[in-house]
Amino acid sequence: MTYWQEELETMNRADLEKLQLHRLKETLERANHSTFYTKVFQEHAIIPETIRSLDDLKKIPFTTKEDLRNHYPFGLAAVPLQKCVRLHSSSGTTGNPTVILHSAKDIDEWANQVARCLYMVGLRDTDIFQNTSGYGMFTGGLGFQYGAEKLGALTVPAAAGNTKRQIKFIKDFGTTCLHIIPSYATHLAEVMYESGIDPRKDTHLHTICIGAEPHSEEQRLRIEELLGAKAYNCFGMSEMNGPGVAFECKEQNGLHIWEDYVIVEIIDPITLEPVPDGQVGELVLTTINREAMPLLRYRTRDLTHLIPGDCPCGRTHKRIARLKGRSDDMIILKGVNIFPIQIETILMKFKELGSNYLITIENDEMQVEVELSDLFTDDYSQLQRLSKEVTRQLKDELLLTPKVKLVGRGSLPIQEGKAVRVKDLRKFS
Ligand code: AMP
Ligand code: ZN
Repeated sequence: MTYWQEELETMNRADLEKLQLHRLKETLERANHSTFYTKVFQEHAIIPETIRSLDDLKKIPFTTKEDLRNHYPFGLAAVPLQKCVRLHSSSGTTGNPTVILHSAKDIDEWANQVARCLYMVGLRDTDIFQNTSGYGMFTGGLGFQYGAEKLGALTVPAAAGNTKRQIKFIKDFGTTCLHIIPSYATHLAEVMYESGIDPRKDTHLHTICIGAEPHSEEQRLRIEELLGAKAYNCFGMSEMNGPGVAFECKEQNGLHIWEDYVIVEIIDPITLEPVPDGQVGELVLTTINREAMPLLRYRTRDLTHLIPGDCPCGRTHKRIARLKGRSDDMIILKGVNIFPIQIETILMKFKELGSNYLITIENDEMQVEVELSDLFTDDYSQLQRLSKEVTRQLKDELLLTPKVKLVGRGSLPIQEGKAVRVKDLRKFS
């Protein structure tokens, strides 16, 4: 069997759109039970029954993170709380967090979505799946737990941190698949090598699911090389359940986004108009398979583009490109727009450099600190040559000259969760 749900995964476009429209209509009817959407529909004179085509979705205004915050905690609940069995919350840096509610059916559908992704990259019930995500409010924990269990894999809820213990589990339990944040994956590999363990020979790892934060293709390749296993990019967000929204298939030519769960739009974040396929814009998603808390035209702030054409794997669901970052991750320096992932792409090309780096912006200057890899010496002239070459390549990419500082292995901070790659001191001055 190649697919987890062959009929749904390979459905032709006409049937898929029919299914989407059917689910969209149900979703609109349900959404109309929430305080928030009742008000939105009234204000915009929207009568759910008059939405008769997928194109009609455009009549509905966008929903934003601010809407979720302003209607905290239950203003978007479309069913009585009694029908909800789980709540996840994403803490904001300021103000109210966002809350997402799930019914029992929602949890089951979400688990199915994750199982579908894991099956797609070759996992089976014979696998041992170790999840290094934080459990609790962060959806990477329970989301992957339920998905891997649904698939039938032996699932190890190792949770975040405690690297030595993670390694012991990988070895003792014969872990074959890891779910891990990319910045932590490289750290874990480094600790393994330092402890005299070669993951390529001394473990049974064959698949790594990496996601939850932006990372470059170079970083993904580096993880594959270090851990001696295939690494697949997985994308999700708590507002859209969590993990399982989009995932690379074995072709690794983009991430299939499950269109029986969401309707995908890519818009220009300034004009809010749709962009042509292939052009980068903001991902906007409408849930069509969620009971407790539907979200209509939700502006994710994540930047990507749709990949035109069919995928040789036979799945007909659209593919999005590796995420470029969030619109709020963009650094504007001396009038130039920069995404941290551009810097990472250059750094990861150098074998002499490690995987941990930190970008600091102060007084309109950018400093890039990057750790050296084990491969490199402390010979001063060699270090100088390396630093010059890194600076040159960064300048070519960014069109401005950052100050490059090469630092020793282990000198930069490591986070248990998502890595903090940028310190913008201008925001505090
Ligand atoms: P959270 O809701 O806290 O899980 O955060 C979700 C956000 O993490 C997304 O909106 C993205 O900005 C980011 N994210 C998740 N997965 C990926 C990925 N594979 N690549 C890039 N960014 C990701
Ligand atoms: Zn595919």
